Amino acid sequence: GSHGNDNLESSVKIPTIKFTKLFVNGEFVDSISDKEDVDLAVNAARHAFDDGPWPRMPGSERAKRMMKFADLIDQNVEELAALDTLDAGKLFSMGKAVDIPSSADTLRYYAGAADKIHGDVLKMSREFHAYTLHEPIGVVGHIIPWNFPTTLFFLKVSPALAAGCTMIVKPAEQTPLSALYYAHLAKLAGIPDGVLNVVTGFGPTAGAAICSHMDIDAVSFTGSTEVGRIVMKAAAESNLKVVSLELGGKSPLIIFDDADVDMAAQLALIGILYNKGEICVASSRVYVQEGIYDKLVKKLVEMAKAWVVGDPFDPKVQQGPQVDKEQFDKILTYIEHGKREGATLLTGGKPLALGGKGYYVEPTIFAEVKEDMLIAKDEIFGPVLALAKFKTIDEAIKRANSTRYGLAAGIVTKDLDVANTVSRSLRAGTIWINCYFAFGNDCPFGGYKMSGFGKDSGLEALHKYLQVKSVVTPLYNSPW
Ligand code: ADP
Repeated sequence: GSHGNDNLESSVKIPTIKFTKLFVNGEFVDSISDKEDVDLAVNAARHAFDDGPWPRMPGSERAKRMMKFADLIDQNVEELAALDTLDAGKLFSMGKAVDIPSSADTLRYYAGAADKIHGDVLKMSREFHAYTLHEPIGVVGHIIPWNFPTTLFFLKVSPALAAGCTMIVKPAEQTPLSALYYAHLAKLAGIPDGVLNVVTGFGPTAGAAICSHMDIDAVSFTGSTEVGRIVMKAAAESNLKVVSLELGGKSPLIIFDDADVDMAAQLALIGILYNKGEICVASSRVYVQEGIYDKLVKKLVEMAKAWVVGDPFDPKVQQGPQVDKEQFDKILTYIEHGKREGATLLTGGKPLALGGKGYYVEPTIFAEVKEDMLIAKDEIFGPVLALAKFKTIDEAIKRANSTRYGLAAGIVTKDLDVANTVSRSLRAGTIWINCYFAFGNDCPFGGYKMSGFGKDSGLEALHKYLQVKSVVTPLYNSPW
């Protein structure tokens, strides 16, 4: 890849960092220790749930405050986008145009649902009258990763707020700044003290304390499959809290012979390079049918070479640095595995030393990748694509499904029969036909297989934070 212009547009303002303490019970407070911080935050959330106004107020009142919260986000878009760029190396331009404003809309979507939560009336037998109540599940622990600090914060927090839950959010240790800012905005919007607590801290201490806490009713986790397993174990060994997990992926993109070459190459490229490949739904395996293979690969490699890597505050840059050294080293190790295992390196494969700082990795494409190679099996979480050629539809389905993951998949074809058949055959939670990364607040998102269970987005996510109570009463002539 080439690299960006060193002279940043003077319009980008690097913000002063305003909030660095923990947010517990409506106040910014100093940390004591990860475990004690979690205890204090859970106490506050427990009290706000058991005795506070939030779960008891009319849904329309919760909605009003959530709408105000969303407006406050819209009023601070640039500052918030800059915080995520500083923390994670994410493109400022994308944060400003997409992550931050779309998160305000996520709040609005669930605000709209807050006064439409209701159960059913049941007949049971003739002698009974029964109904169901959809009640907030209680105190929720949200544990989120560093790759989408804002988007994931609101995918978790918004439906839980609408449901009437109280919560404690633990952002990733790499990216705590925007979460603390959101806590401040929540208070300004009138979200009562104790409802939304933010505790920054490390995974094995603060995260673990949440998962094993006896006073937390549910934990909603996004992160690696490896940690997802630990989360579930801790939940099982403590109070059997409800768990939902959005974990890793190794999503296939299948390009058929009849695809438009330019469009397919564009999808394949964005599918792996968006957010520097640090995205759980990255199309990290691309299967190309033999008839279009040569043309497609030529185009894809050309585009990868023209991709602009550099300072994430520079509006011309398309790819910033990886989040930290650990991630950078992990990606480079996988690239070495790819070379050693016999995959063909078509482009990239090296770190980029831009001005001597930042963990930049070249857009990297391997061809002739086999399903048993590490670069085809493991989630790399970086700009590293594994390409393979296929002949028949059945072969494509079989190879696409030969993974322990099942988060998403893409199909590029003009043939409706092929698109429909393949969609049904792929074991993944989201299928994108002739598009990729098409998300929406009303579109449920979550994994199959070892990509986890439970949905973020859609009304499914609202129901994740509700539980159903059945209320039964006999009629006057009942034998009871
Ligand atoms: P990634 O590989 O994307 O960093 P992780 O699964 O390591 O994903 O981290 C996702 C989130 O899980 C982070 O907030 C991290 O602090 C937290 N975490 C890490 N280890 C644990 C643990 N043992 N228990 C609970 N949370 C953890």
